[in-house]
Amino acid sequence: MIIGIPKEIKNNENRVSCTPAGVFALCKAGHKVIVEANAGIGSGFSNEEYQEAGAEIADVKEVFKRAELIVKVKEYLPSEYQYLREDQMVFTYLHIANDPEFAKALIDSKTTAIAYETVRDRKGGLPLLTPMSEVAGRMAVQVGATMLQKNNNGRGLLLGGVPGVFPAEVVIIGGGTVGLNAAKIACGLGAIVTVFDINAERMGYIDDISGGTIHTAYNNEYNLRRALKTADLVIGAVLVPGAKAPKIVTKDMVQTMKPGSAIVDVAIDQGGCIETSDHITTHDQPTFERYGVLHYSVANMPGAVPRTSTMALSNATLPYLMKLADHGTAALKADPGFLLGLNTYQGHITYRGVSEALGMAY
Ligand code: NAD
Repeated sequence: MIIGIPKEIKNNENRVSCTPAGVFALCKAGHKVIVEANAGIGSGFSNEEYQEAGAEIADVKEVFKRAELIVKVKEYLPSEYQYLREDQMVFTYLHIANDPEFAKALIDSKTTAIAYETVRDRKGGLPLLTPMSEVAGRMAVQVGATMLQKNNNGRGLLLGGVPGVFPAEVVIIGGGTVGLNAAKIACGLGAIVTVFDINAERMGYIDDISGGTIHTAYNNEYNLRRALKTADLVIGAVLVPGAKAPKIVTKDMVQTMKPGSAIVDVAIDQGGCIETSDHITTHDQPTFERYGVLHYSVANMPGAVPRTSTMALSNATLPYLMKLADHGTAALKADPGFLLGLNTYQGHITYRGVSEALGMAY
């Protein structure tokens, strides 16, 4: 199959959908890969690396014209709709439930569109979202540790302390993929870490794998209020699938926190779980202050570390991409979890959640 890898054109999007390692594997399996010139530059992959891996480098028109399967990171922007067509498959983060214009372009063009975000694995997990949660969780601690520095108006604390000096207290709300990854990094740096969740099984798992070094606490208002009073860094990582994030930390709770303490609301992409993280920030201006507490609420955290994010995403997508390249749409029929990724086919919406969100026929 001929696979096209275009350069992402969304503002500040430096990821690319496939690494040279992925291209190498596809070519070795007998496929042809056409990579748009400079598609990998933002992630530190040169045209030459792609060529050495077996790819052909071409301009954008050539990539979209010749490919039978287009693999991207982000949704198409309006200037790219012209390339959509019936005899081409598209595999990317689509997010069309919030993007009726793009949904219409896919339906009108009868494109076969498979969304990373709705593919499920055997356990019902979301394997193509997990890598970005892993990145965001680990990064939340890195960001939070920097916010606590005095030169950033923080409390002037080193997360891990030093011998003879207490480490910082880190409170993580939500112990899923983001929360556990944040907890591991914070714990590794020597902080005192508590994960608040409402899922007893998950807390048991965290306790087991950390040998009790990551503390867990049932999330209720009483427990959380007490912890917030002494917390130095709070990380919001709650997810209620298919819903906006609940406001777990209220304004009056934030008012009880210590001056110069920090909040990283990773759940901001779902509206945020901290009442005072009242707007989305960007990597250019990531923090703001409310009631003396520093807040960080960037909705696309992985964008700051595109090289790591690209490799993590490509690792997760490659097995699916290989199946699509080998078998075309038959690969979807063979795997019910993969089939759930199919969002549009032959001019119809084929994912129920998307049709409900858009009020369009299923
Ligand atoms: P996840 O489903 O793996 O984990 C969510 C956890 O929240 C679960 O353990 C669940 O039990 C817990 N939870 C639910 N309700 C709770 C409550 N009331 N109190 C405490 N815990 C509760 O989700 P995830 O992959 O870890 O993602 C977490 C959030 O991070 C999501 O909103 C996701 O979209 C977001 N995210 C943001 C970025 C970014 O760049 N800002 C990147 C990746 C993910």
